Amino acid sequence: MIKTGIGYDIHRLEKGKPLFLGGVKIPFLKGLAGHSDGDCLIHAVVDALLGAVGESDIGQHFPDTDPKYKGIRSTELLKQVMALVNAKEGQISNVDTIILAEEPIIAPFIPEMKENLCPLLQISPDRLGIKAKTNEGFGFIGSGKAIAAWAVATFEFKEDSQDE
Ligand code: MG
Repeated sequence: MIKTGIGYDIHRLEKGKPLFLGGVKIPFLKGLAGHSDGDCLIHAVVDALLGAVGESDIGQHFPDTDPKYKGIRSTELLKQVMALVNAKEGQISNVDTIILAEEPIIAPFIPEMKENLCPLLQISPDRLGIKAKTNEGFGFIGSGKAIAAWAVATFEFKEDSQDE
């Protein structure tokens, strides 16, 4: 059985914060605001994984009212979610993502993002897509006020591991 999940996230850019995307600290004058490190790419991936296995979203699993998640690295959240999805006996077929950012230029950091995320997702690099686009100057993303990300995750489950 094949199961697919979709994830989306957007965070506001603020001056003087570190910018984390895909677990990579990217040199930039602004960073993503959030209860965690604001890594919207990982948050989108987490929601895609959770969605594929029928779980509630990242905000339910890691509430921003809980002080234990304050300032937490999103790679830690991904590790915890992988433990949860691994318990479901599914195998990730692939994860595909898009980052929407006007600035900075993301492409040079994609190889390092893949180096970070593939071991956490327990998949080979050919099963993870990370693409970066600008928003052509439109809206909050285009004016550099926010960065957003989309993700799709597909799992394969053994036929006998799920109710038909
Ligand atoms: Mg988020």
